[in-house]
Amino acid sequence: MTLPIVNIDGDIVTLRKISDAVTVFDGQLKTFAQDMVDTMFAANGVGLAAPQVGSNQNIFVMRTKEGLEKDTTDARVLVNPKITVKSKATAMGVEGCLSIPGIIGDVRRFESITCSYQDLDGATHAETFTGFEARIFQHELDHLWGVLFIDRADRVGRPKAA
Ligand code: ZN
Repeated sequence: MTLPIVNIDGDIVTLRKISDAVTVFDGQLKTFAQDMVDTMFAANGVGLAAPQVGSNQNIFVMRTKEGLEKDTTDARVLVNPKITVKSKATAMGVEGCLSIPGIIGDVRRFESITCSYQDLDGATHAETFTGFEARIFQHELDHLWGVLFIDRADRVGRPKAA
């Protein structure tokens, strides 16, 4: 089931709030995560964080690397994610956000990060992301802290018409 996406002209309070840790790993959480995945694909996004669907919980979803390359509907769910190691190297890249329609900007992000997160059963995992995946992770993690890409971006504006 898809959920309505919150945008900055709507519920800015939810988008700006710091989200709470997930402590209950039940069927309701699994249903919510699947709804987030459905919503991300329906909106043609690469990632989606819980505040973007009106819920201040520490959970986001993102496409897998393979899902990005082959445009499949492979997605992963990250609960209570945190960055444990950041690369020295950073990279600039263009970002947009489903909650800020029609706006893009250049954002500097760590080129690679190691993170820890829990799955939907509460088991803890560690993983390293690089490149575009690392960028998505950092963008979505920001949402859980009430931070939007426009806070970090240079050259914010509307994309040039093709
Ligand atoms: Zn976003």
